[in-house]
Amino acid sequence: MSIVTVQPLTGLDRRLSYTFERALPFGTLVKVPLRNRECLGIVVETAPDAPSRLKSVNAVVYDWPVVTPDTLSMAYWMQRYYACSLDSVFETIIPAVVRQEGRFRYEKVLSITKVLTEAELEVLQRRAPRQAEAYQALLGGPLVKSALVHERGIGEGILRALVEKGLFLETERSVDRNPYVDEAANSERVAAHTPLRLMHEQETALDSIFSSLDAGVYRTHLLHGVTGSGKTEIYLRAIHRVLEMGGDVVFLVPEVALTPQTVGRLQSRLELHGLSSVVWHSSLSNGERFDAWHALATGKSSVVVGARSAIFAPLKNIKLVIVDEEHEPAYKQSENPRYHGRDIAVYRAYLNKAVCILGSATPSLESLYNVKHKDYCLNRLTKRVDDRQMPLIHIVDMKMERLKNAALLSRTLASKLFDRFERKEQSILFINRRGYSTSLLCPDCGFVATCPCCSVALTFHRQDDLQKCHICGFSERAPQCCPQCASDKIRWRGFGTQKVEDVVQKMLPKARVVRVDTDSTQKDALRKTLADFRAGKIDILIGTQMIAKGLDFPNVTLVGLVDADISLKMPDFRAAERTFQLIVQVAGRSGRGDKAGEVVIQTCTPYSDPIQFAKRSDFDGFLEQELEQRKEFHYPPFRHLIRHLFRGHNQEKVTFVAEQWVRTLEASLPEKIEIRGPAPAPLEKIKDFYRVHVWYFTPNVSQTLQKILAIRSKFTSDPDVIDVFDVDPVDLS
Ligand code: ADP
Ligand code: ZN
Ligand code: ZN
Repeated sequence: MSIVTVQPLTGLDRRLSYTFERALPFGTLVKVPLRNRECLGIVVETAPDAPSRLKSVNAVVYDWPVVTPDTLSMAYWMQRYYACSLDSVFETIIPAVVRQEGRFRYEKVLSITKVLTEAELEVLQRRAPRQAEAYQALLGGPLVKSALVHERGIGEGILRALVEKGLFLETERSVDRNPYVDEAANSERVAAHTPLRLMHEQETALDSIFSSLDAGVYRTHLLHGVTGSGKTEIYLRAIHRVLEMGGDVVFLVPEVALTPQTVGRLQSRLELHGLSSVVWHSSLSNGERFDAWHALATGKSSVVVGARSAIFAPLKNIKLVIVDEEHEPAYKQSENPRYHGRDIAVYRAYLNKAVCILGSATPSLESLYNVKHKDYCLNRLTKRVDDRQMPLIHIVDMKMERLKNAALLSRTLASKLFDRFERKEQSILFINRRGYSTSLLCPDCGFVATCPCCSVALTFHRQDDLQKCHICGFSERAPQCCPQCASDKIRWRGFGTQKVEDVVQKMLPKARVVRVDTDSTQKDALRKTLADFRAGKIDILIGTQMIAKGLDFPNVTLVGLVDADISLKMPDFRAAERTFQLIVQVAGRSGRGDKAGEVVIQTCTPYSDPIQFAKRSDFDGFLEQELEQRKEFHYPPFRHLIRHLFRGHNQEKVTFVAEQWVRTLEASLPEKIEIRGPAPAPLEKIKDFYRVHVWYFTPNVSQTLQKILAIRSKFTSDPDVIDVFDVDPVDLS
């Protein structure tokens, strides 16, 4: 008998002890009795039995551990740092299908136990021709039973008879459900096989990473390389090195469906060395998810590539964690636990004495700040591979342009589009707004169509003649006249992807124009569209920011950003940073092949800093200036920001509770922390919930949060008002 200590997967913040007939390894999923109920738990310790009257573990769910010691440490840390419940953390860390006792898929396999002599076979053929047929089918080797039944039409009764006779043996084997094999994926397996000669800067960066790997210590490398500088090649070589050392690798990408090329390149490179990887993404079926987790937990796979939740993969010997496009807001989870995948990645590398590579052409200010203050190692790649030129960036002032023509495409952009089409080169247009027009306005009474549930204007979608809310999905028929004063002079203003598509198609009727945004494209279809684009079957691709990431199309020589002002106008202290990043990233899609690229940025504020700095590709200049402003206002990265959001259906109540809270907090805090608010959130209402937020600025999240939570636990809120904390928020809307 042993005593096992178990961390229950309920909200219980305490470990419990049970007995069991044998010792259980760390991380084993078990069922234990808890207050007359049965619940799941994770084994965290086993000790030899001392006489005790403990209850016994009811059952062991799997004979392999579902979490690793470091992920469990991360769970406790996340609970504290992000101020969320332990059960919400466990729900995030251990996939639902594993907690719900997933099963392997088994298939039945038939094989021959005894080879018949010719005479015996003849007898069988005479007496039972169907049995003989089945026998002969198996002569070449064992076959899956269902294939015999469904493809060869051999009845189950016949097979059973053969098994009963002792001529066939039926066995079971588990089948791996491998989700990422399809044609689109294959076409992404570009020639990763020809070994490249590294550029000088690549070599220097890689040497630096290798020396950290060889030292076997924790180190974060910020790989700041301009678009097309060959960062992926560096990741691949670092991965290879780690696998040779027998280590495991986590490779994070912002979203798997949007980065098929990176995933494809990784897979084909690994295959070259006879290695497999697990691709962890949101559209896995439950079975696939279960198999993937099992493969990682049992060491069948040493590499996982996936979106943020892949950081919790149960790999035991992590030596390298890569976060590609580390500046991407997609790494932050928008519901509880509101963790930041990149920050967890750094922490996990730290726990494992592993190397973390954060890569980007436009690193976040947080990571750049950490180069100085947390000793991140900065590796820069300033040149594109093969000395390809950075694209030439033109800024078009749309205020001037609109005086002369009312079009949404400037003459500069239009003529360049023509030109590319004539030359059979490809173009991409970005417009970070879906739909056709952005708002309905009545010039007679001033009416603006807004969502009944959210405080945003409705967007017109001409395809289905609906006006839709992009926050909650509300939709209704687009009106013919003003709903308020019945005027028929109502106008649609602004434009989105659909209108751009319309305009471009009219301008170039012969061009093959395809639009990709969440209205037009399922995630899987996106991969096909991108493959078509690569194959030259599309001339002009129009899309939202979703296609601005990590794509590499050699024949694209023109990129247009139709409205650079959208991100600039965001009510967010990161608006300038996001705009700068967006311009540099979209520009990076141009001129990646042998031909030089051009970029056209349309804006009404051509002289704003992020646009000017991006035009000159002056990263350091932008950084210096932006940091100065952040410092002045105490914004990140100089302080951590904690957002405390109150919401409820009754606007007065929400405001009242938030005001009461701030008063209580100010009165009872031992020392001053910097508080701003309460103030209505930029999106005042979402899905009928009114929203008010309070901001805290602090150099130390854990300490501040601890104090705030202590006061919060004694504060009587209103049952109709919900409040949540968002630590290091990236979405302030
Ligand atoms: P980034 O991720 O920095 O934007 P990529 O890693 O996608 O850049 O590299 C851009 C292109 O250059 C890819 O097609 C890649 O295969 C190629 N490439 C990378 N390194 C080299 C090299 N040393 N020599 C030649 N081509 C390279
Ligand atoms: Zn009106
Ligand atoms: Zn809405």
